[in-house]
Amino acid sequence: MDRDKILLTPGPLTTTLRTKLAMLRDWGSWDSDFKLITAKVCQQLLRIINGDDSHVVVPLQGSGTFSVEAAVASLVPRDGHILVLDNGAYCKRAAKLSQMMGRRCTTLSFPEDQAVCPETLEKALQANQSISHVILVHCETGAGVLNPLEAVAQQCERYNKGLIVDAMSSFAALPIDAQKIRFDALIAASGKCLEGVPGMGFVFIRSAVLKDCEGQSQSLAMDLYDQFNYMKQTGQWRFTPPTHVLVALAEAMDQFEEEGGQPARLKRYQSNCKALITGMARLGFQSFLEPSIQAPIIVSFHAPAEACYDFQAFYAACRARGFILYPGKLTQLETFRVGCIGAIDAMEIEQALQAIALAMQDLGLLSGAPAAHLRPN
Ligand SMILES: *Cc1c(COP(=O)(O)O)cnc(C)c1O
Repeated sequence: MDRDKILLTPGPLTTTLRTKLAMLRDWGSWDSDFKLITAKVCQQLLRIINGDDSHVVVPLQGSGTFSVEAAVASLVPRDGHILVLDNGAYCKRAAKLSQMMGRRCTTLSFPEDQAVCPETLEKALQANQSISHVILVHCETGAGVLNPLEAVAQQCERYNKGLIVDAMSSFAALPIDAQKIRFDALIAASGKCLEGVPGMGFVFIRSAVLKDCEGQSQSLAMDLYDQFNYMKQTGQWRFTPPTHVLVALAEAMDQFEEEGGQPARLKRYQSNCKALITGMARLGFQSFLEPSIQAPIIVSFHAPAEACYDFQAFYAACRARGFILYPGKLTQLETFRVGCIGAIDAMEIEQALQAIALAMQDLGLLSGAPAAHLRPN
């Protein structure tokens, strides 16, 4: 049937019809109407982190990674030294892009089924005085782990290190108060928990460190200082803006506010996540993480033990019923992921569970239970 599939993925996400319809018009990038939308979106974004007076926000064209790269290029001096707290795939990506931009980069590794440890960070900062910046991925979307932002920010403040937070999959769902948590830069994007369409990211920068960013970027397109100044002076984006993406984001943010902002969004995602894990457990599936570190964003499930399970076939059988799952991203174990974010609620989760149960029948899978050694005692 000609109906959009429900995306149970970490982005792009299922969006509302209202958000999609916002993209049916053309906009001149230098036109005053479009400039007003840019300004309004920036204002609304700053309000979400309670950073109106203390921070600026710089939007940037491209997917979320472009903005992570831009934050590193613009915030970290060329002779700076970055410490990446690494417990998964997105952390490794941040380390790789830091290295490729010529910054000195050290990684501090943690198991991918655990949150990063602030005490271990403290020891590393004591042992390694040359570190200038720390990169933390708030929700490591690889496994779905929630990392301790507040405790990491406290260590960075105590040792006077810059903190760059990839909050791509947590921003707007999990609480982040810029007056309580000190960071130099925090990055998110249009197509995640704000439930816009993908195509632009944005970086919150603490105003106190903004002037140090001048001339630091080795890339023209990634230079957030330049982007910020140009926008401040002209109200325009420096290069061609993703016009349709921005107006869709503006529409999505109005709905975000109508829903009740971050607390309401968190509540909906938590209820999605709970319904998902409970329903999957009924089918035998075992989630990978301890509940205490599971972010209500995306859930990794162990692959079922039965020999008839095959991710591609399972994926196709769910897809045929209108639901898009996501492959796993762990280095050692076979898993698959199911997202709880996007313009969906418990009803779509119940429908997805029904689709998964039918997909199991297609494959001849009696239970989603993983191999015995992976089951809890
Ligand atoms: C989605 C995401 C990104 C950005 O990925 P893109 O594919 O560039 O949009 C970065 N970090 C995290 C933690 C994410 O979830």
